[in-house]
Amino acid sequence: MAKTALIISAHSADFVWRCGGAIALHANKGYDVTVVCLSYGGRGESAKLWKNEGMTLERVKTERQREAENAAKALGVANIRFFDLGDYPLEMTREAKDRLVDVMREVQPAFMMTHSKYDPYNTDHMYVSEWTLECRAIAQAWGHKPGEKILGAPQVYLFEPHQTEQMEWKPDTFLDISPVWDRKWAAIQCMEGQEHLWHYYKNVAENRANHFMRNSGGQSGGRKATHAEGFQSIFPRTVDEL
Ligand SMILES: [Zn+2]
Repeated sequence: MAKTALIISAHSADFVWRCGGAIALHANKGYDVTVVCLSYGGRGESAKLWKNEGMTLERVKTERQREAENAAKALGVANIRFFDLGDYPLEMTREAKDRLVDVMREVQPAFMMTHSKYDPYNTDHMYVSEWTLECRAIAQAWGHKPGEKILGAPQVYLFEPHQTEQMEWKPDTFLDISPVWDRKWAAIQCMEGQEHLWHYYKNVAENRANHFMRNSGGQSGGRKATHAEGFQSIFPRTVDEL
């Protein structure tokens, strides 16, 4: 059975900027990566689309789904799901949480990724971080839908937010995504409604590559990296050797 990973994205483009490289890299390694987009970001993250004459929320959502599906294809995502919960505000009902718990149990991810814990610019993001941890705990509970296979203890990586320094986000993991940068760049360019972010996230990846190299002397042989992504992990690592 292939290893799996689960990405929980508040809006339909977040997974592209924040962990597109991790997705493409693990897809290359044979992982089946599932992406859950809780909303389309139709209201809050589609400014360019709203500038078109006669735009409606339904048209924006259709466009955002098309963009996200194209990006997912470019990254090698095995499965993308849209919960269509709405955004600004994104609100998660008990039913939506149970649906996410079901996905966690079905996918049985080796690791999960989601948003930073704090985001005063975008409260949708920080609520999703909290809900992911809540759903992870429920998915691990033997008493929730007894008889189903419970979730193990996958690491949760918080991906890099926008305006990093304001988010109380501190990376403890740098992932070299140089071999798949072309795929991430192609996916980024699928997000036509947010063209103003393309080069910003190219710069982030280049800067994180510098941090990767600065820190990789021991663990990664000090090899050169052109692009990287940073993550903050929630849970301790269990190891046999340091
Ligand atoms: Zn977002």
